[in-house]
Amino acid sequence: MTGATFCSNESAEGGAGVLRQLIDDPKALGALARAALELCHFHPETGEDRRKAPGAREECEAACYACLMSYGNQPDHLQLDRQSVRPLLQRLAGGTVAASPVALPRAEHLAQIRRQCGSDLERSWLDWMDQRDLRLPSRAQFFVEACRTRPDFIYDEHHAAI
Ligand SMILES: [Zn+2]
Repeated sequence: MTGATFCSNESAEGGAGVLRQLIDDPKALGALARAALELCHFHPETGEDRRKAPGAREECEAACYACLMSYGNQPDHLQLDRQSVRPLLQRLAGGTVAASPVALPRAEHLAQIRRQCGSDLERSWLDWMDQRDLRLPSRAQFFVEACRTRPDFIYDEHHAAI
């Protein structure tokens, strides 16, 4: 394995804790894809087909119990093909995740809050955050009635203002 470690607070496989981790860590999805490539007998970096599990005597054509087969998916064994997932996993392995704090795609959200900025300094700070794939604020120049102030930026989910 490539050393990818995914922790979950949930007892069920693929719980919300794992999904949160995939969103919060920009490199987690790539690491997961590399681990899946290796599990399917491909080199995690080059995609080269190693054709069998480490220590296995027989080659794996489409699937074996070291990669995709399990006793739980026996009805689907004829449909399993590790070759079919390689291109997708290779693309994911080289990617990063850039989450948007709102329902808009990140680029649209960035453009929207850039337009709301009150100064070039604020726009520079936003660009700096974006270039490093850091979490973008939820809003810009939003008036907080209870405090009678208008912070430059607000992170809704963390109840934080800048
Ligand atoms: Zn196999």
